[in-house]
Amino acid sequence: MTTPHTAFGRYDVAIVGAGHNGLVAAAYLARAGLSVLVLERLDRVGGATTTAQPFAGRPTRVSRYAELVSLMPVRLMAELELDVGLASRPVASYTPYLADGRHRGLLVENPEGKRTRTSFLELTDSSREYDAWCSFYSEVAAMARAVEPTLLQPLPWEKDLAAHVDPATWRDFVTTPLGEVIEKRFATDTVRGIVATDALVGSLAGLHDPSLEQNRTFLYRLIGHGTGEQLVTVGGMGALSDALARAAAGAGAEIRVGAGVSAIRAGDELSEIDFDTAGGPATVEARFVLANVAPWVLHILLGEPDDPESKPVGTTLKINLLLDRLPRLKSGIDPEVAFAGTLHVGSAYAQLQAAYDEALQGRLPTVVPSEVSSPSLADPTLLGEVAPGTQTLSITTLLTPEPAFADDPLGRREEAVRRAIAALDEHLVDPVDSVVARDAHGDPCLEARSPQDVEQELAMPGGQGHHGPLDWPWANNRARLDTPDQQWGVPTGLPRVFLAGAGARRGGAVSGVAGHNAAQAVLASR
Ligand SMILES: Cc1cc2nc3c(=O)[nH]c(=O)nc-3n(C[C@H](O)[C@H](O)[C@H](O)COP(=O)(O)OP(=O)(O)OC[C@H]3O[C@@H](n4cnc5c(N)ncnc54)[C@H](O)[C@@H]3O)c2cc1C
Repeated sequence: MTTPHTAFGRYDVAIVGAGHNGLVAAAYLARAGLSVLVLERLDRVGGATTTAQPFAGRPTRVSRYAELVSLMPVRLMAELELDVGLASRPVASYTPYLADGRHRGLLVENPEGKRTRTSFLELTDSSREYDAWCSFYSEVAAMARAVEPTLLQPLPWEKDLAAHVDPATWRDFVTTPLGEVIEKRFATDTVRGIVATDALVGSLAGLHDPSLEQNRTFLYRLIGHGTGEQLVTVGGMGALSDALARAAAGAGAEIRVGAGVSAIRAGDELSEIDFDTAGGPATVEARFVLANVAPWVLHILLGEPDDPESKPVGTTLKINLLLDRLPRLKSGIDPEVAFAGTLHVGSAYAQLQAAYDEALQGRLPTVVPSEVSSPSLADPTLLGEVAPGTQTLSITTLLTPEPAFADDPLGRREEAVRRAIAALDEHLVDPVDSVVARDAHGDPCLEARSPQDVEQELAMPGGQGHHGPLDWPWANNRARLDTPDQQWGVPTGLPRVFLAGAGARRGGAVSGVAGHNAAQAVLASR
């Protein structure tokens, strides 16, 4: 017996995927009076922005994948009237290191104050490195001030943006491989490593890569709100996607979960979108299709041959833990300070370069670099009713590439978790194992997501969190910007199918920028 095929009608816009960007696009378009249908294959909205309660018998919640917001423009949040709290962290980073056999650490406060300066002086015995740090980040801030306000506007030309930035700054951040710049401007392995992590998170480009992907990753990490400050969403990332879903549905958008799109037939005036529901397959027609899915997935939905060579490679393993208490550190710093911001592990410059060499060969780094933090310090609401002292801990690894997990996904994930925790334990008086809480079955409260898991759960190809390599957030001086989709950086080559996810130009990370820009392209194309 064949399952009946249902026609679900015609919409101005069909959005494939209810990730945060799909929801942003839906909210803007529905507010502009268009009929909007959002189709999501999972049984929930949010994609990589979601809150989970993963530990059996424990009330604590975690941001399962993405956990920090830096790039979401204040204007977007105000326009969509998002009722979401973003909590600041009093510490930007803490980097433990060993000097003359003694465990110490470099503390960078947020905002930077006296302790930051003192901490630099302890590392280097002179103010040279701290002065270099201050002048480097004041140049980054100047770049951010020029670029960030353009994210919700049609793409600026490169030459117009460059005119607003000191030529030496532009050269260092846009045309010179960042590794060269770091080596020229900083002297110590510790400080070089702190700067370099922002160029390596989520990407497999080397610091000296001529593609300059590392420079782009760095730029996206540092331009948010003009400062790059990383904020914690109160209630976890799910609070953000829930607020966006409310904004979209409140304006009249229809959001269908459990509706996986299987094909898009793009037409000149109308496109047809096939999707599967619990009740069987269905089809809708739409004047515009917005792809919140990765470009690689979109090609498949459009019936184009898949190209394994161009499949993105993810490099992030995300570990969430619940701890009975934060572990003490060998450096003696208060753990509530060390874990309040980003604690860098295995990230001295030489360690990052060794890890990169191993990752490039498809291997797990011997010492896994990671960014560690305790989100519940900034947002205690995540904990629920727990014993005093209980905290969450998250570990986001760098340079753990998807191919390294391929031959034995479960075994390699376990090994990667073991290595990441071993690298952290190097700096702890109390190893993680001695402080991890137990769930209702007596098992450690630990969940981990490898790039394979991310691909399987979120349909992010290769588990790559930005849906692919990041583009510069401006148009090349020779680019064609004739049509609204080109002008907004969301084209697919098809006149009425636009990108509306992380894979769009200016799309990476949790920002809503791609959703906003896709919506503007539709409104300008009507
Ligand atoms: C482990 C991890 C940690 C990260 N940490 C951070 C962080 O701390 N800060 C930050 O800014 N960024 C972070 N990122 C990146 C960030 O999460 C993503 O770039 C961003 O969330 C992408 O949002 P999106 O809406 O464009 O796409 P997605 O979140 O990928 O949403 C796409 C949606 O489309 C759905 N979909 C896919 N195929 C179909 C189909 N055929 N039919 C219907 N629906 C479909 C998916 O189920 C998903 O819901 C992280 C990413 C990962 C993987």
